[in-house]
Amino acid sequence: MALSIGVLAYERELLPGSKRSPANDDPLTFNTQYASPNELQQAIRELREAFPEEGRVTTEPETVKDYGSSDNSYHPSAPHAVVVRAYSTEDVVNIVNIARKYRVPITPYGGATSLEGHFSGYASRDICIDMSGMDKILDIHEDDGDLICQAGAKWEDINDTLKEKGIPLFFPLDPGPGATIGGMIGTGCSGTNAVRYGTAKGEWFLNVTVVLPSGEVIKTRRRARKSSAGFDTTKIFIGAEGTLGIVTEATLRLAPLIPTRVAMAQFPNVDKAVSAVQEALNSPYGPHLQCVELLDDNMIRAMNDGGMVARKLPEKDTLFFKIQGAPQAIKETADVVKAIVKKHNSTQFEFAATDEEADNLWQNRKYALTSTLSWIPGARGWTTDVCVPPSCLPTLVYETKKDLADAGIISTIVGHVGDGNFHALLLFKNDEELQAVSDAVHRMVHRAIALDGSCTGEHGVGVGKKEYLNDELGEGTVALMKTLKKAIDPLNIMNPGKLYPDQPKDRKAQ
Ligand SMILES: Cc1cc2nc3c(=O)[nH]c(=O)nc-3n(C[C@H](O)[C@H](O)[C@H](O)COP(=O)(O)OP(=O)(O)OC[C@H]3O[C@@H](n4cnc5c(N)ncnc54)[C@H](O)[C@@H]3O)c2cc1C
Repeated sequence: MALSIGVLAYERELLPGSKRSPANDDPLTFNTQYASPNELQQAIRELREAFPEEGRVTTEPETVKDYGSSDNSYHPSAPHAVVVRAYSTEDVVNIVNIARKYRVPITPYGGATSLEGHFSGYASRDICIDMSGMDKILDIHEDDGDLICQAGAKWEDINDTLKEKGIPLFFPLDPGPGATIGGMIGTGCSGTNAVRYGTAKGEWFLNVTVVLPSGEVIKTRRRARKSSAGFDTTKIFIGAEGTLGIVTEATLRLAPLIPTRVAMAQFPNVDKAVSAVQEALNSPYGPHLQCVELLDDNMIRAMNDGGMVARKLPEKDTLFFKIQGAPQAIKETADVVKAIVKKHNSTQFEFAATDEEADNLWQNRKYALTSTLSWIPGARGWTTDVCVPPSCLPTLVYETKKDLADAGIISTIVGHVGDGNFHALLLFKNDEELQAVSDAVHRMVHRAIALDGSCTGEHGVGVGKKEYLNDELGEGTVALMKTLKKAIDPLNIMNPGKLYPDQPKDRKAQ
């Protein structure tokens, strides 16, 4: 499919006159006849009756278009037919019931920071549920180390609230700024803290309250930290991208706030940097490493040129470490890391001795994205996300950098290197370059899967990565996912067109 900046290609391809759903020709999944235009209008009328307050239901063209597309994604997108703002589980039940009655697709929308076309509209025929107004923290149990909140609460606001209240706990999943708990559950997110705290697929969600496509409300578990009562139904919704139900509340497990310091080391190449990380993580001091981030030489150059950093850094592959623990443990860990990076030919090691120095050093990591985007005037950026076993990362980075250079694509790399997860930010200025970038991303994904890796370590599948699922997971696993989907959402009204590959591949190809 030809890509085009700012053009709603998906809409263009799917709309022509047909009343039938275009996506339901896969025999393993569905054959839903979605609402006709008249039925859709009737559904919108019922939504307006159910939510008569100003601004609750909108079909205003700019709004439905904004809610259906993202500046961070170049995948085909389409406006929604209508956006409805929910404030309670009951609101969500009402919306789902109206959608089911008329067979109108529903797209949940949280912080809108996802990157793979996750919340794009279903060819102007869907209801977008805006969950961002459901942002309340409902209960904090400091002694138990957990917190109950609505799905639209943002992870940063939760951590700010805990800090303001003087509660020495935090929620460690840290995806993009502005992400909400519902969206984080939807994408199965993680972030820089994953090396120490794991991902959304760990045990950070003790339970979730979900409105199923049937309109039934379930809570997956109670608040106890452990339960071996049956299999883990919470996990079914983590990474489901709103295709199985709408999360309205969640109980989050919290972690103690631990003093942190930052260190930085430069290396002659990625290979040396990654082997140093593996040795440090596998040492007895590994548990004190909260984050290990790699910025490649291009990224450092972009940051230096962008002028946002307080001082210029050597333009080499660079690791940023966050070390956590009691002061003595931090000191001992820093000493061990220093010795290990030296052994792996690090040319420079810097340890921030004070909070202020630590903040300054970590700020460099934070400028990565903006520095890259301002590196080439007028350029836009496509962020990719792949993940491989950590020992395979140098091969992946080396081959990818060579491929991008051969294709004439300017790019920078930032990696959650302790997890073997990296993002390349590929720059382009026009449709032709965008196509070259898209092709390079495709090759990068196949390279990652060939190294026993994943097409997405943390951003999720959405529209952009669904074509890789059969290759990565195998057709049997994808068929199991579809069987579950079909059982829970037989009409396929929950976020259709996302996550599940469109067509089963020839089984012999496996
Ligand atoms: C600058 C930047 C940095 C980023 N860094 C990281 C990173 O380090 N790690 C990482 O993992 N991601 C990262 N991301 C991606 C993004 O922040 C995550 O994917 C995040 O989890 C999305 O949350 P959201 O609230 O924005 O979800 P949205 O984008 O609103 O939605 C994401 C998906 O979840 C579904 N959904 C939303 N709310 C609900 C709900 N209540 N119930 C059911 N489904 C729902 C949506 O339909 C959609 O499919 C980054 C993004 C940006 C822009």
